[in-house]
Amino acid sequence: MIELKGLDFAYGDRPVIQGASAIFKKGELWAIVGPNGSGKTTLLRLMGRLLSPARGTLFMDGKPYFQYGRREFARRLALLPQSRPTPAISVWDLVCHGRFPYLDLSRRLTRADTEAVRRAISSVGMEDYTARPLSELSGGERQRAYLALLLAQDTPCILLDEPTTYLDISSQFAIMETLRRMSGEGRCVAAVLHDLTLALRFCDGLCVLDGGRVAACGTPGEMVEAGILDRVFKIRCEAAGIPGEREYIIRPAEKGPKKL
Ligand code: ADP
Repeated sequence: MIELKGLDFAYGDRPVIQGASAIFKKGELWAIVGPNGSGKTTLLRLMGRLLSPARGTLFMDGKPYFQYGRREFARRLALLPQSRPTPAISVWDLVCHGRFPYLDLSRRLTRADTEAVRRAISSVGMEDYTARPLSELSGGERQRAYLALLLAQDTPCILLDEPTTYLDISSQFAIMETLRRMSGEGRCVAAVLHDLTLALRFCDGLCVLDGGRVAACGTPGEMVEAGILDRVFKIRCEAAGIPGEREYIIRPAEKGPKKL
């Protein structure tokens, strides 16, 4: 579980996150959503310990972040950033990087490490791609390879920044299904998502940011019913379908969408 308590963060003298508190539980898939510039990526980077808050505390499993050593933290939390390099290596070699926090000084993979890499690759259905260079994969295939890297790291917490951007719709669904499986296995998974439709359809919870503040956190149904998404995104969002199989319809606000 990751808990944020009263986080403030500024780039220079420009406040970007203000008084952010939220809880992300194990076994749940969370979306961090909000308009452009609302602080989603910054919040995720704070959660991944790539940035430090000016005020407030982050906890993992009840223990403050600063009490975790680097390797211990890397064994508990993995973060997939927004811009990912395409190094000139194979899928297999990429996924092996997920085991680095576990290696001893010899830096050699043990049989158990190799097995973890094999399992991670097969759980994203990429057994036939192990020798393929990353540069020769499609966007969706490369993204699946990166998910395998996260799985090989075998951490109870996984953070992702825009994991579905630039992918076609069926690849987006495949990525979201994989994230659901990861959380279903007991992990705490949180992703910055641009696409509200995907967030509403697949996630257990939404953490809605507005101007650097957490406007609200809750289930998709709660966020829609309370009109939070309407207010923050200047849209009209309604639940449709039958309970248990909820669909959501998103329309422009009655006064028309906000001016760009
Ligand atoms: P989002 O992910 O919701 O689009 P970001 O967290 O990327 O929002 O950015 C929040 C605000 O912080 C934006 O106004 C952005 O311009 C600013 N910002 C982001 N990164 C930096 C940076 N490295 N230096 C200065 N300002 C930044």
